[in-house]
Amino acid sequence: MTVRDNLALIRRQVEAACARVGRNPADVRIIAVTKYVDAARAQEVLHAGIGDLGENRSEQLLEKYEALGNRATWHFIGTLQSRKVKEVIDKVDYIHSLDRLSLAKEIEKRAARPVKCFVQVNVSGEATKHGLAPEETIPFIEQLRSFSRIEVVGLMTMAPHTDDEAVLRSCFRRLRALKERVQEFGWAHAPCTELSMGMSNDYVIAVEEGATWIRIGSALVGSL
Ligand SMILES: *Cc1c(COP(=O)(O)O)cnc(C)c1O
Repeated sequence: MTVRDNLALIRRQVEAACARVGRNPADVRIIAVTKYVDAARAQEVLHAGIGDLGENRSEQLLEKYEALGNRATWHFIGTLQSRKVKEVIDKVDYIHSLDRLSLAKEIEKRAARPVKCFVQVNVSGEATKHGLAPEETIPFIEQLRSFSRIEVVGLMTMAPHTDDEAVLRSCFRRLRALKERVQEFGWAHAPCTELSMGMSNDYVIAVEEGATWIRIGSALVGSL
């Protein structure tokens, strides 16, 4: 399947999901996760009309950036080691994996401008997953008030690997509820309007539950 065909299918699913819950499909943005594919395939994504690309490793982000530069909006979606921050910070537009103070400090030190960050939350509590526990999230965001280079635009999560719709739905719902609690504080540094949730196997449910950014890899670009 071409990226264009895959994208048409995903867009139809997103529109149908939005229609079911009374959302505007324009409020759901697609990040093409290109970690499985080469720069030529990533280029195909841009041609198909998706300008947001996501990578989960700094090496791959740099490689793709080399080829495509600022023709794309770059999202860092994977675990970010503090020592890698300086290599990617002037290239990425969004970081989806802010989950600890040491990383926030490194971003603050290295960034020349405010960086849009999602705080990653481990809603499901699986030991293998990164992210803050839900109850740690608000105190963590509060601590970022004095950071001039970090703007908390939203929350991000990865749902458990399951086909159990109820489990997925409850995970996404809890992230949305947490986001709404953060918004109630009205913090200038944390508008927290966005929800980064939903991947190839669960994006329809994520959209029904309020996702504003879905991160799609295999269903969009394949996994060559
Ligand atoms: C790989 C990855 C995705 C996309 O995964 P697919 O299941 O291929 O859509 C989304 N988010 C993160 C954080 C990832 O690492």
